[in-house]
Amino acid sequence: MPSAEPRPALSIVVPVYNEAGNVEPLYEELATVARATGRSYEIVFVNDGSSDATLARLEAIVARDPAFRVVDLDGNFGEASALCAGFAAARGDVVVTLDGDGQNDPADIPTLLERLRPDVDVVSGRRHHREENFTTRVLPSWVANRMIVLVTGVPVYDCGCGLKAYRREVLGDVQLPRGFNRFLPAILGVPGSRTAEITTRDRPRGSGQTHYGLSRVAIVFRDLMALPLLVRRPPAGRAAARIAGITSLVLAALAVVAATSLHIGLVLLLALGAGVAAAIRYNVDRFARAREHGVFRVRRVLHVVPNTDHRHRGSGILGEEPPADVRQAADGSRHRAL
Ligand code: UDP
Ligand code: MG
Repeated sequence: MPSAEPRPALSIVVPVYNEAGNVEPLYEELATVARATGRSYEIVFVNDGSSDATLARLEAIVARDPAFRVVDLDGNFGEASALCAGFAAARGDVVVTLDGDGQNDPADIPTLLERLRPDVDVVSGRRHHREENFTTRVLPSWVANRMIVLVTGVPVYDCGCGLKAYRREVLGDVQLPRGFNRFLPAILGVPGSRTAEITTRDRPRGSGQTHYGLSRVAIVFRDLMALPLLVRRPPAGRAAARIAGITSLVLAALAVVAATSLHIGLVLLLALGAGVAAAIRYNVDRFARAREHGVFRVRRVLHVVPNTDHRHRGSGILGEEPPADVRQAADGSRHRAL
């Protein structure tokens, strides 16, 4: 972004993957709500390697709105990476995120901003009445959220709600491995006392279908076991991953020994411990790699550069920023996301 452009007060970040039917109506709603806040704003859609017409629709919006930017990723990196790319590109003092399928209601954004009072760094939406299957989605997510609160001490009871507002200072250079967006905001290390919730409306998906199957439930439970180590500052790193790996092997070996003596209860307990330790090793390691190498690669950033040249006053050109958000190692090599 040219440095002459002032930073907006508010950035709205939306990750999208194959949401061709949803981006246009959502953009219209967001622009209306953002204008009504009276704050300077930008809307940043992150195209996460969509293979449908999403990018073409986004380009059409870019051409007509200078407050609209598109971060076009170099492939499908996953929702967590797309959010991180959006955080890196966002320039506002406050960053609001929401899903690109229309499930979150932009009309809730003013309440979210109001609640972001000086004593608070993050406000999270809490869906009042979820428009999803109770047994396969709502109930497992209810249990998972309570476990997340228990292990992190951060009283946010709907981590899966995409609608959230952050002070940009808490975002830093966050790099979340796949699936870890489910642990926002705890994973940022924000103290529980500086978080707040507001009740939000949940709407049916605009068009298309969810990108996640039932396996997500199991994955969330697997991943949350490493959370106590990852919400610490500094978070656990490679050494902790190695200790967890060794613990897992020792417990697995003990389970085999116990099996020969037919202590079935003990075998199950040891096997469970080995599984938990293995899951912790896996995620602490993933988290460390994400921090070291980054989790996304930007192909280009699209926006209209308002033309300040007097001869062309009023016109704009469709600009492409250099992908400043590409993670680059000291040796100059570029890393692929995890
Ligand atoms: N998404 C993404 N990359 C992916 C999968 C999803 O950017 O690989 C986006 C998706 O387009 C949507 C948001 O993440 O804007 C949430 O996805 P979805 O609605 O499928 O999740 P659910 O609401 O079922 O949790
Ligand atoms: Mg959704």
